[in-house]
Amino acid sequence: MSYQFEDGYPSDLEAKREILEVGRRMYAKNFVASNDGNISYKVSDTTLWCTPTGVSKGYMTDEMLVLMDLDGNVLRGSWKPSSEMKMHLRVYKENPSVKAVVHAHPPVSTSFAIAGIPLNRAILTEAVMGIGEIPIAPYAMPGTQEVPDSIAPFVKTHNGCLLANHGALTWGSSCMEAWMRMESVEYYATVSMYTGNIIGQANELTCEQVDRLIERRTNSGITTGGRPTCRDCSDKDTCQFSTCKGGSGCSCHGSGQAGADDAALIAQIVRNVIREQGF
Ligand SMILES: [Zn+2]
Repeated sequence: MSYQFEDGYPSDLEAKREILEVGRRMYAKNFVASNDGNISYKVSDTTLWCTPTGVSKGYMTDEMLVLMDLDGNVLRGSWKPSSEMKMHLRVYKENPSVKAVVHAHPPVSTSFAIAGIPLNRAILTEAVMGIGEIPIAPYAMPGTQEVPDSIAPFVKTHNGCLLANHGALTWGSSCMEAWMRMESVEYYATVSMYTGNIIGQANELTCEQVDRLIERRTNSGITTGGRPTCRDCSDKDTCQFSTCKGGSGCSCHGSGQAGADDAALIAQIVRNVIREQGF
């Protein structure tokens, strides 16, 4: 359900239909509990439809949705918009190319947000290409100006972020794209948990592999997403990959495949990090 709009925006009807559908998916997938979560979708440069507070997002109807302007003034609708709309409005202000924002509390992503562990390891090809790295916005008191301020630094450069001790936020060029990114963030978090904590081993992609995935992402028109951390480079100064973040154990000059020794070393490092972070 993704449209190619002539003026870059959906009609009121299309926007509302997509918000209701994303709300149903969000609730059905257990990405929100109770009345949590919120969704918004721009229909012009200055107006957007958004979800109300105090309602399960799985059971919304058309008349519950609220039309507001970018300053938060309600233009249509009798329901009260969520206080978390401040966060959405800030995303639109920081990056006018964003058309939709989705906020949820998916359990695994939220657990990473609580642990203070960003999703930034290059372990999944689809995650590197589709969403890139997912940083953590620092803790902010709900309902205050701290919340929009905390996410502002990531809006132009990334496709979403975790909210410390709270949940996750994604954005995109359509409501469905923002939602797909939310699904991808939770999947990335789940696989990170399995490999990091349950299996205890993850072979990170090499710098070269990450470079090629990012090149493909850029070619597909996605210029945001940052760069997940590739298998670290031991010779950062002379490394041919300018984006390499440095470190030890890198094989980005070599075969591009981890040997058995590398895998054992990485597994040991992961275990040490998990132990130190108490994860
Ligand atoms: Zn929330």
